[in-house]
Amino acid sequence: MGRLRAGESFPVLEEPQRRFVVPVRKKATTSGASAGVHKKSKGSNSSYAAMPPPPPSRVQRERAAAAVGDVTVEDIHTLECGMCCLPLKPPIFQCKWGHVVCSRCRDKLRTTGRCHTCGVAYVGNSQCDAMERLENSIRFPCPNAVHGCTTRTTYYDRHYHHQTCQHLPCHCPGEACGFVGSLDMLVDHFEAAHGWPCATMARAAATDDVDEEGETYTFDVSLQDGFNFLLAECPTDGILYLLLLNVVRQPHGCTISVLCIYPDNDESKEMEVQCELTYSQNVHVKSRRGDGKLIKHFQESTFTVDCTDLSDGKPRPDECFQFVVPKSFLPDGDTVKVEGQIIITY
Ligand SMILES: [Zn+2]
Ligand SMILES: [Zn+2]
Ligand SMILES: [Zn+2]
Ligand SMILES: [Zn+2]
Repeated sequence: MGRLRAGESFPVLEEPQRRFVVPVRKKATTSGASAGVHKKSKGSNSSYAAMPPPPPSRVQRERAAAAVGDVTVEDIHTLECGMCCLPLKPPIFQCKWGHVVCSRCRDKLRTTGRCHTCGVAYVGNSQCDAMERLENSIRFPCPNAVHGCTTRTTYYDRHYHHQTCQHLPCHCPGEACGFVGSLDMLVDHFEAAHGWPCATMARAAATDDVDEEGETYTFDVSLQDGFNFLLAECPTDGILYLLLLNVVRQPHGCTISVLCIYPDNDESKEMEVQCELTYSQNVHVKSRRGDGKLIKHFQESTFTVDCTDLSDGKPRPDECFQFVVPKSFLPDGDTVKVEGQIIITY
């Protein structure tokens, strides 16, 4: 059962200025429908398609919306296709008794020529104008409304919107913190609640960019013990990635582990984030004869970074790669300077 609040104005699709953009690569919606505009598809031969009724005036629409109040959809299957049970998306077709199907199922019915429910001979191009208007006018609040999303979607766009919602939440990695919010909210929270700045900016490379001549994607950063955050922007698509570099002192040196904090959606399952880290340090050691010797140390690792919304907490140290800097090559002071590169693959 879905609940929706009517009586509010039609959906507010504009979203506030944001820094993070969740990539939108798979489009599966109809543009006219999401804008609340009803369009007849070509080839419609229903009798009223030839003479569409005049659209209601703005005053009429506002009055209708205001009169509805709090609405409950008692049977959500009402908004689904009678054959495939997926949310009905215009164009919607019907038999002469009003049994409705989506356009894909309408194509399947052409082989039998009969309605799936009542068996009446099927006239394949009869669109159900009332159902199309209903599907376009009922709006559901986004589940991420509590995280700042103001979008109200149609039933058939709900899943797609949720996968690409800019307000999908991630969890704060702070011990016992419990804060949950969109990436923008999280970055603000890091600074305000924990004093962890996200000052380091880097350019992330898409796999295709890595070999391009003249382009440099390396960053260098002085890491402190504990959490360090890096914002890596991929210049090809403008998407910003939030990376957590965790430095832990150990008896033998220090370990650096890397995570990408990213909402749990279809994209996060398909993409791979790689990190290349290098560390170099020259140290003077005394030989037994008492004279100094210079040792040049260089280490480099390329590894896959976990993408997680941290809903299950931080991975255990043995669950992710540990970049280990030996104690003898650590500088005095409390920062470790590394160079690196972030590479995104889809
Ligand atoms: Zn269907
Ligand atoms: Zn029928
Ligand atoms: Zn949303
Ligand atoms: Zn926190």
